[in-house]
Amino acid sequence: DDHLVRFLHSVDLVGLPLRADAERLRAGLCESVRANPGATAVKLSAYLPSVEADLVPMGERVEVAIAAYDPIHDVILRKGTPIPFRETLRVRIERVRRKLDAALPAQAKVAAGYLGPMTAKWAARRVGYDEILLVDGSGHLAEGPTTNVFLVERDGTLATPPVGSILEGVTRRSILEIAKHDGRAVREEALRPEALFEASEAFLTGTTAGVWPIASVDDRPIGEECPGPVSRALRERFDAVVSGRDPDFAHWLTPVAEG
Ligand code: PMP
Repeated sequence: DDHLVRFLHSVDLVGLPLRADAERLRAGLCESVRANPGATAVKLSAYLPSVEADLVPMGERVEVAIAAYDPIHDVILRKGTPIPFRETLRVRIERVRRKLDAALPAQAKVAAGYLGPMTAKWAARRVGYDEILLVDGSGHLAEGPTTNVFLVERDGTLATPPVGSILEGVTRRSILEIAKHDGRAVREEALRPEALFEASEAFLTGTTAGVWPIASVDDRPIGEECPGPVSRALRERFDAVVSGRDPDFAHWLTPVAEG
């Protein structure tokens, strides 16, 4: 449901006149999952088909496509090309925000918004990094190209950039709720990129990534060990929640079986 709300919010932010109601989208989502056994991810895309003939849409028709799939089996393994995949990440901070970002709200999940991060991440990949972290217009830490970022401070507090210059990921929100439920202190606050070097742990979150520990930033190791104990515990906890093994968060699940 959270994803559905974000999807509708994104559509709203870019002004697409989508009139589909949440109930119909929810039904379509469940149907797609049932039709694709083994699916572990669902992607909803809204687009204006009539832009094909001109830059601007000729009509107001919005189409929605729903894909249900397993990112590892259906995308990565099927393509047969090995991707550089590590358990822990070597990250580079990308300090130059691309101009496009000024025109698109960070909260909108729009294809065009990924061009700048894509080229920056590609450049970083070519010189041996796994991932990049982006800063916002005022130089504060924002997010990864498709992930949110968390720090674990020396006293165990979890810190993450506030909503504003980030896409408010569902995984980010889930991690904040799980941490609070476990009695851990959490802060949503503007962070300097340098705060990463003072942290005892850092990790990325995302639907596909889950909780992904950061080993180093700009070639400087983060903390004593990677994954650190907090990242490891949160990753295990999060995996248990999304695979239905954690009764405390069973209410987050939507049954899709027929009948
Ligand atoms: N930021 C951006 C820009 C993203 O594209 C994503 C992936 N949707 C995220 C953060 C993480 O969001 P989620 O946890 O909902 O996958």
